[in-house]
Amino acid sequence: RLGQVAQDLGLDVFAVGGFVRDLLLNKQNLDVDIVVEGDGIAFAAEFARRFDCRIRTHRKFGTAVLIFPDQFKVDVASARTEYYLEPGALPTVEHAPIKLDLYRRDFTINTLAIALNGSHFGELYDFFGAQRDLQEKAIRVLHNLSFVEDPTRVFRAIRFEQRLGFRIGVHTEQLLRSAMRMGFLDKIGGHRVWNELVLIFKEANPLPAVLRMADLDLLEYLHPDLLLEKRAKKLFANARQAIDWYRLLFTGEPCRHWLVYFLCLLTDLDDQAVASLCQRLVVAPRLQQIFTVEREAAHRATNLIFWRRMHTAPPRPSEIYDWFQPLATEVLLYAMARSNNEQVQRCLSSYFTHLRSVQCELVGSDIKQLGIAPGPIYKEIFQRLLAARLDGELVTR
Ligand code: ATP
Repeated sequence: RLGQVAQDLGLDVFAVGGFVRDLLLNKQNLDVDIVVEGDGIAFAAEFARRFDCRIRTHRKFGTAVLIFPDQFKVDVASARTEYYLEPGALPTVEHAPIKLDLYRRDFTINTLAIALNGSHFGELYDFFGAQRDLQEKAIRVLHNLSFVEDPTRVFRAIRFEQRLGFRIGVHTEQLLRSAMRMGFLDKIGGHRVWNELVLIFKEANPLPAVLRMADLDLLEYLHPDLLLEKRAKKLFANARQAIDWYRLLFTGEPCRHWLVYFLCLLTDLDDQAVASLCQRLVVAPRLQQIFTVEREAAHRATNLIFWRRMHTAPPRPSEIYDWFQPLATEVLLYAMARSNNEQVQRCLSSYFTHLRSVQCELVGSDIKQLGIAPGPIYKEIFQRLLAARLDGELVTR
């Protein structure tokens, strides 16, 4: 259908990037990226009109997203052709606009294109040795200034390398290291570094990429105290176990696994170091709260459980509830991964499997019926009832 619309409009369209890379690697990828030689927005608008899709456009970038009725999305971009319209400037290369578009990309393996229309339908275009690099399992940049042009590619290189089981090419690694040495990472905003870090931590198993970051001195770059000690491996493995365990509870509440792993990375940093890292990476306020205040509260609560067990009676269920209830699920799973104390593990587990869903069972109108006038006392009544229920002092309605 895409090819048909392109053909009718006299345009050439191509599937490009990660979609084609993964097609050749026989890996599933549902992020379809299309490049149109010409006006991608006009193309997308015509497609949407004919096939009952919604369309979202970004005029500034000449891009559009086609949203199909089943929510399947196709990203459409424009390869600019106007540079070639002046006489004399006409390039000799066939499909120069798409070639130029692909030249701007990060790594050779992301530069493949498949023609989607006309007699060229299905033809694979490989201008920059992508098939060779896929075969050699190599991550290579297209030119020597690639990391200088966009230092976020340092993180992207590691992500693709570890995800695909490839290796960053020798020359590319030299370029990467020298861009780092020359401080080019400092020239991009912290939020861009943060976005790339999040993508790394969103990988199914981020540990190999984190170890590679350590190997390339990137952790030290993020914070001088961020040295990955041996126990990190164990901690990440524990985190994975805790996440899997939580998934099997089928609580219906999602868990952002990347947050649990990121908290593991921070484990040896003190509060001040975490706060300054968050500031530098321009982390959103809600996440900052998780990485600083909630992390600290989880450390305190788990220490307290340990201490109480050793010196006095174990904490009551209502106390456990009060400590854990204000904390994000991800912080608690991190605490689970970090603790090697059985009592702490048991408290966390009982919170997730039981305490968290206990309710006080009464509503305001029930209390009103008892002749108590509405006011702040209601809150206290609810809290005391809930505590009594959690501690098993109250079992009937
Ligand atoms: P993923 O499977 O992680 O989505 P992807 O290859 O689709 O991988 P995206 O981050 O979605 O990667 O980017 C889409 C395409 O845009 C990439 O294939 C790449 O060619 C290009 N791209 C993205 N970021 C950059 C960048 N910083 N520099 C150059 N090209 C980039």
